[in-house]
Amino acid sequence: MGTEGFSLHIVFFPLMAPGHMLPVVDIAKLAAARGVHSTVLTTPATSSLLSRAIELANSSLPIPINLHLISFPPTSGLPPCGENLASFDSDDARVKMLAALHKLSGPFDDALCDLRPDCVVSDSFMPWTYDITAAHGIPRVVFLGSNFFSMCAMHAVQHHKVHENAPPDAAAAIVIPGLPHRIEIFRSQMIDLTKAPPDFGEIFLQGAAANRKSFGEVVNSFYELEAEYYEYCTKEMGNRAWHVGPVSLCNRDPAAIRARGAAENDGRCLRWLDEQSKPCTVLYVCFGSLSILSSEQLREVAQGLEAAGHPFILVVRKSGDEWMPEGFEDRVKEKGLVVRGWAPQIEILGHRATAGFMTHCGWNSSLEGICAGLPMLTWPLFAEQFYNERFLVDVLKVGVAVGSKEHVVILEKRKEVIGASDVETAVRKFMAEGEEANERRRRAKELAEMARKAVEEGGSSYNDMGRLLQDLTELRTRKVEVGQH
Ligand code: UDP
Repeated sequence: MGTEGFSLHIVFFPLMAPGHMLPVVDIAKLAAARGVHSTVLTTPATSSLLSRAIELANSSLPIPINLHLISFPPTSGLPPCGENLASFDSDDARVKMLAALHKLSGPFDDALCDLRPDCVVSDSFMPWTYDITAAHGIPRVVFLGSNFFSMCAMHAVQHHKVHENAPPDAAAAIVIPGLPHRIEIFRSQMIDLTKAPPDFGEIFLQGAAANRKSFGEVVNSFYELEAEYYEYCTKEMGNRAWHVGPVSLCNRDPAAIRARGAAENDGRCLRWLDEQSKPCTVLYVCFGSLSILSSEQLREVAQGLEAAGHPFILVVRKSGDEWMPEGFEDRVKEKGLVVRGWAPQIEILGHRATAGFMTHCGWNSSLEGICAGLPMLTWPLFAEQFYNERFLVDVLKVGVAVGSKEHVVILEKRKEVIGASDVETAVRKFMAEGEEANERRRRAKELAEMARKAVEEGGSSYNDMGRLLQDLTELRTRKVEVGQH
């Protein structure tokens, strides 16, 4: 990949959570590979999550990525336990952390004075970055961490006042009006800010307002995956957006994939998968980096997996084993592996022994499943995950829903518990042979091939990354001409 003379300097400032930091660093790598001077801004407590990936990338990039650290002021009143949202063991503490992020305003402002970039790519959860970049005359591009489909679905729900018009009982699904496909969703699955803690609702609303004023949105997706929704987003909603993904595919060799995220459990998971005698038999079960299921729910998951009888890897974020059915690990040891903490997800998904992915439908996980050519068993919990589920199941037709119905902002408040027999039924149906399952697998492989092509030189995402850099270059030129720089 040659550099194209984009002599820009872009500062990337992701939310301190793996689902935001990992893709944003990948975008920084993609930009640096095109000749952009890229700086990743984060806090000292979170830098270890990124430094390995950046150091490794720098050994082959034409212009090394610069890691710039800013710290919270000493009296910022943050909840203890670090600044990475994944390091908190409650959603309540995470919301407090999100509300405290604006205390980075001063250090962020100072960093811009030092770095004087041409553009800032900052997270939608940091709406206050808009005013600071605007005061510096620097364009802000938003990173939302989601896809076009869910942006459109949320817009349509709001625009058509679906919430207000929906029948209060949860029995019937509602059709979201105006979308290119017929999408049905239960009221209980929609994001309902009236049920969110006030701090969270405020950040969400401020985020939407700041996003509207920003220069545009960079999206980890590719055109062929959701062309109608890209068109809807840019034409009906009037957003300026660039699709540059799947960005995880910029990590081409195993070392780069491994350097992404925590270095835990790599050897153990891959050895276990290597030992599986038959290819395409293992169900990988992971609910992302933030979701901590209740002990009660995890126990049902474990019992359902055991009863379904297919080999599995179960990733558990919880500390302690009180969720585990008695004797579970011993009984399933031939067939199941329990991973506590962080799993090397992309490597597991890409292993020949893996057949499918039970996922919470976080957008990174969903896209990583697509890139691996795997069908998905969907179990959304919070954020835009219920929309992602509809996208995987109804639009892409690579997903099967477990039947999760309750959207929550605070996971600890979730009342719904899906029982072991429902988990077992869903797993059996999903892993079964047959025309429907084969068609899902064929479709998943086709999407993986499309994803690979999108990021190749000349592919849709490669070209749109070029368009983003070109748009920023032109914006800078115009500013110089009118004497704003
Ligand atoms: N991830 C991982 N190992 C884990 C858990 C998560 O590698 O044990 C990675 C996963 O590959 C993805 C990100 O963390 O890139 C999670 O992002 P996602 O949007 O799927 O969900 P979130 O964690 O934000 O809910």
